[in-house]
Amino acid sequence: MTDRDLLMIPGPIEFEPTVLEALGRKTLSHLDPRFIETFGKLLEDVRDVFGAPNCTPMVLAGGGTLAMELAATNVIDPGDNVLVYNTGYFSDRMARIAERLGANVDHVRAAIGEAPPLEALDKALTEKRYKIVTMTHVDTSTGVLAPVRQIASHAKKSGSLTIVDAVCSAGGEELHQASWQIDIALSGSQKALGAPPGLAIALFSQAAIEARKAKKVVPASLYLDIEEWLPIAQAYESRKPSYFSTPPVNLISALAASTQLLLEEGMSARVARHRWISHAFRAAWQALGLASLSVDPHATAHTLSALLYPTGIDASLIGAIRDEGVVVAGGLHPDAKTKYFRVGHMGSTRGGDVLTTVGAIERALVRMGYTTFEQGVGLAAANKVIGGALPHT
Ligand SMILES: *Cc1c(COP(=O)(O)O)cnc(C)c1O
Repeated sequence: MTDRDLLMIPGPIEFEPTVLEALGRKTLSHLDPRFIETFGKLLEDVRDVFGAPNCTPMVLAGGGTLAMELAATNVIDPGDNVLVYNTGYFSDRMARIAERLGANVDHVRAAIGEAPPLEALDKALTEKRYKIVTMTHVDTSTGVLAPVRQIASHAKKSGSLTIVDAVCSAGGEELHQASWQIDIALSGSQKALGAPPGLAIALFSQAAIEARKAKKVVPASLYLDIEEWLPIAQAYESRKPSYFSTPPVNLISALAASTQLLLEEGMSARVARHRWISHAFRAAWQALGLASLSVDPHATAHTLSALLYPTGIDASLIGAIRDEGVVVAGGLHPDAKTKYFRVGHMGSTRGGDVLTTVGAIERALVRMGYTTFEQGVGLAAANKVIGGALPHT
């Protein structure tokens, strides 16, 4: 493996040079006016990225999983009913977090690779009152894209708070936290937001902040209590120094550089680019005869592809693709781990990266003896989409 290998996994991803430059700059004091400006601006930008004008953003040192715990810890009391709209491994993780907090957790499930029907959600919502409904916007283990807007709208009608795990979607998929009625949207820095791993991001609506205040039991974790963080976020936004726990100065500067690039591109242009890239990949997969684990194209992510190994091919394909200069990921869902692999295509991915990746996969398949396609058909199909207009759906 060399530094020239193309990293095409569902996070971390290839980062823009300005983002990495920000990471390598001299570490300023977290109270230096220049850093206060950077962090304050980042918090404002995060709100724009998530379409959340009235929400309070929090950015802490930690992974996406910490952002999940931050969301759950501040609104769940022991004995609360929590409903998980389950699309895979990360939905299960949210359920485990809620269970640790003493919640009674129910699931709305579907077969692996499918999004549960909204009728099943409605049925669950009429049978019991749920304080919270959680969903995974893109479940990175299955490539399923959940209909977040509808789920949240149904959940709010029945009086629940909504939590959306947007770790693999924010910055790549269409997402409007406020108008989609999401109380807490959360993410991590290393996926479509385009910065190195290490930051947990979560935005709280006023209702979510009220839910924290109304909690019967204070969070056992001091670090995860938003009551500690709210004054910090407010201080940085009004460009004033403050301290609770030292912010990871360099990572925050890197994320600030990345969100600036996101907003310069424009959120709707960025979402359109992700669709275009994913359509180019989908055309290639079809030409090569590679089936997606996620069954419905309308409920399939634009930030990654989860692909079943064709007959006669196993996980050693991943090593063969790496030998061709591209790094892809293996399966993650425990029920199908050895049956599929994943290609991340989010953040800075460009048309040329699609061709590099498809070419590497074609050559690796041929080397492994899978020859049911004519060499070059995947490349031609992808290139046709790349050369065409941006799709609207
Ligand atoms: C990656 C991911 C997480 C976990 O993020 P970490 O930074 O690995 O802790 C959670 N949810 C989804 C949907 C993810 O893709």
